Amino acid sequence: MPPPLDLAGDVVDLLRALIDLESVSGNEAAIADQIESALRPYGHLEVIRDGNVVVARTQAGRAERVVIAGHIDTVPIAGNVPSWVSGGGEETIVWGRGACDMKGGVAVQLSVAAAVTEPTRDVTWIFYDNEEVEESRNGLARIAREQPDYLAGSFAVLCEPSNAGIEGGCQGTMRAEVELTGVAAHSARSWKGHNAIHDAAVVLGLLADYEPAQVEVDGLTYREGLNAVKITGGIAGNVIPDRCTIEVNYRFAPNKDAAQAEAHVREVLAGFTVTVTDVAVGARPGLDQPAAAEFLAAVGGEPAAKFGWTDVARFSAMGVPAVNFGPGDPMKAHADDEFCPAADVYSCREALLRWLGPAN
Ligand SMILES: [Zn+2]
Repeated sequence: MPPPLDLAGDVVDLLRALIDLESVSGNEAAIADQIESALRPYGHLEVIRDGNVVVARTQAGRAERVVIAGHIDTVPIAGNVPSWVSGGGEETIVWGRGACDMKGGVAVQLSVAAAVTEPTRDVTWIFYDNEEVEESRNGLARIAREQPDYLAGSFAVLCEPSNAGIEGGCQGTMRAEVELTGVAAHSARSWKGHNAIHDAAVVLGLLADYEPAQVEVDGLTYREGLNAVKITGGIAGNVIPDRCTIEVNYRFAPNKDAAQAEAHVREVLAGFTVTVTDVAVGARPGLDQPAAAEFLAAVGGEPAAKFGWTDVARFSAMGVPAVNFGPGDPMKAHADDEFCPAADVYSCREALLRWLGPAN
C-alpha cells in the first residue's frame, strides 16, 4: 500500500506522490481511493464518490459557487514513473508521467481544497477519470449527464497546464473525410483506369495553400488550422487505385458553431465529397463575465487564447464560463520527458489562495 496523500504538506511533495500513483486511463481506482480518503477528514468539505470521480464541496452558504476541476488519469507510462527531480530551490523541476498533464494541477487543487476552510465563495472541487481517452468514457461528461448539479456554478477553472497563466476558452475541432473515387485497372494498362490517389494532389494543394484565419473572440486571438491528418488508398502494387480518402482536421475559433465550421470546410473543399465524421465546438473565453473578473484580478497577468480542445467546453455548453489555469507547459503534455516546474505549482497555489481566501 502506498502511503496516504498528505494534503497539508508541501504541494510539490504531493505532486510527486500523485505521479507515483500510476493512473493510466481506465486504472484510476487506486488514485481515486487515495484522493477520497485524503479529503474525508476535512470537515469543511462534503466528499462524494461517484465511480472514479471524487467531488468535494464546501457548503458555506456563500452568494457564489465556483467549480475547479481536474482529471486524474494520464496517458500510458513511458519509463517515467516513479517521479524524479532535477535542479533545486527555485529551479526545481519535477519529472514523470502526469507531471505536466495534469497532476501538478491536481496537487494544487488538493492542497488548496484542504487549506481553505472558510472560502470567500463556495467551491466544488472535481477530480475525474478517463479524460485522455474517447469521449464516451470521459468522467466529467458522465457527471454532466448524470449529476449536472455537481457542475453548477457561476465560473469554472480547469487546472490543465497553462504555464501558470490564464488560457481562456478553447478552439473547436472537426474531422471530415474527403472521398476520392476513380476506376480500378491493372497498372500495366493504367490508361484503362482513373487513379484516385493522383486526384488527392488537388485536395492536398488546396490544404497546403490554405491560409488559416486568426480570429478575435472576446479580446483573445485564436489561430485556426485546416490540415490533412491521414490519407489512405491503394490495394495492391499492380492495381490503379479507385479509392483514396483524406482525413482533414479543422481547428476553429470559438465564435463558430458546428454548422458554420462545416460550411467553411465545404467551401474550401468545394466540388469534393466531404463527410463530417466528428465535431466538438469550442468555448468562448467568457472573460467578460463578472464572475471571471475577480479570478483575473487574483491571478494577474495577461490571459491568452487556448489552442486545442479541453473540457472547458463542457462547462461552456452548460452556460458556465470556464478557463484553463494550471502549472506546466501544455507543449509538454503527453511527452515522454514531461515535467513541471515547482515554481509553477507554488504560484498556482498562491493564486488560488488569493482568490478563494487564505489558507487556514
Ligand atoms: Zn489534460
